[in-house]
Amino acid sequence: MKKYKVVLLSGDGIGPEISEISSEILKKLSHKYSFDIEIKEEYFGGIAYEKYKDPAPKATLDQCKSSDAVLLACVGDLKYDSLPRELRPESGLLKLRSALNLFANIRPVKIRKSLLDASSLKKEIIEDVDLVVVRELISGIYFGQPRGQITNTKVKKAFNTMVYDTKEIERITEVAIKIANQRSKKICSVDKSNVLEVSQLWRDTVLDVASKNKDLSLSNMYVDNAAMQLVKDPSQFDVILTSNLFGDILSDLAAMITGSIGMLPSASLSNSGPGVFEPVHGSAPDIAGKNLANPIAMALSTSMMLKIGLNEEKAADDIEIAIDNVLSKGYRTSDLDNGDCNVLSCSEIGEKIIQEI
Ligand code: NAD
Repeated sequence: MKKYKVVLLSGDGIGPEISEISSEILKKLSHKYSFDIEIKEEYFGGIAYEKYKDPAPKATLDQCKSSDAVLLACVGDLKYDSLPRELRPESGLLKLRSALNLFANIRPVKIRKSLLDASSLKKEIIEDVDLVVVRELISGIYFGQPRGQITNTKVKKAFNTMVYDTKEIERITEVAIKIANQRSKKICSVDKSNVLEVSQLWRDTVLDVASKNKDLSLSNMYVDNAAMQLVKDPSQFDVILTSNLFGDILSDLAAMITGSIGMLPSASLSNSGPGVFEPVHGSAPDIAGKNLANPIAMALSTSMMLKIGLNEEKAADDIEIAIDNVLSKGYRTSDLDNGDCNVLSCSEIGEKIIQEI
């Protein structure tokens, strides 16, 4: 029997509510497909700060490093916003990404037919959307040095550095190519090479790597145009490859095409070692503890973990099918309420999904 160790980081806010459902889903699937799964819960985020004065304690990071995959819910709360930056829950996320060398963030954006009316864009524009944003995650302007503030001048200044080397661009391009080869072999690389030197290096390097793959179709787009095209005609895209800053903004924009932030999963991967699978949304403090959260993004992250992290493809597909079945029967959490559906609580919709598996 195959054996897996998964570290579960429930974190803060709605995290424990949506994590409980994913735990139950994994237990059911492990019986159905005869694999053994150890789910090890660890402290991470605000809850870890409360206990250890560290949002990403070494013990948690060590457990993550020795796991087959990490399933993370969400972290953060307003009450931590006054802490020094390195003690805030969100800094724990950056620490985890660096510790596991998670340079590739994969965010699939797929329209579920039963939710066509949940988007703020017209049905005709979004109905064929099925794209993946591949974002570089541990370099670029969020990590570049030097950075800081200059306060001993007449006028205050602040600065950051956007920097990439060819190796960093090459390895994220390879990831995008691998994903494109499993889809329609089409990549759109997004940059700002008309203005930024770092983007020119990005464009040249992507072209260089992609040209070794003869059956691949590569296009380039400036980031301002890409933002416009994502709203105007999102189904033209298949794989979008981009840097850390542009990917952060474009992937949130692309996410909202589907209707609710409570629907979208993501995977953060390295070249070897465990990946981190997590919903796109935050800890939703406004609804935490009220049994109102949509657990689907977390369940879909669990599906991505099974598919990419553990190679349990059938079990992964079961989650997707179960979710589609529940939605097509008209069951929704309140974030997806269009006035014409059966609104259920977080735990109730979780039970429906588990029943469908
Ligand atoms: P958020 O994603 O937590 O919430 C934005 C809005 O979406 C809220 O109205 C919330 O109720 C709703 N929402 C989010 N997830 C939902 C779900 N599953 N079901 C139903 N509704 C949902 O973003 P925010 O309010 O900007 O941030 C709250 C906290 O989360 C902050 O501390 C922030 O730093 C943190 N955060 C964490 C992550 C992460 O853990 N990866 C990501 C983003 C924000």
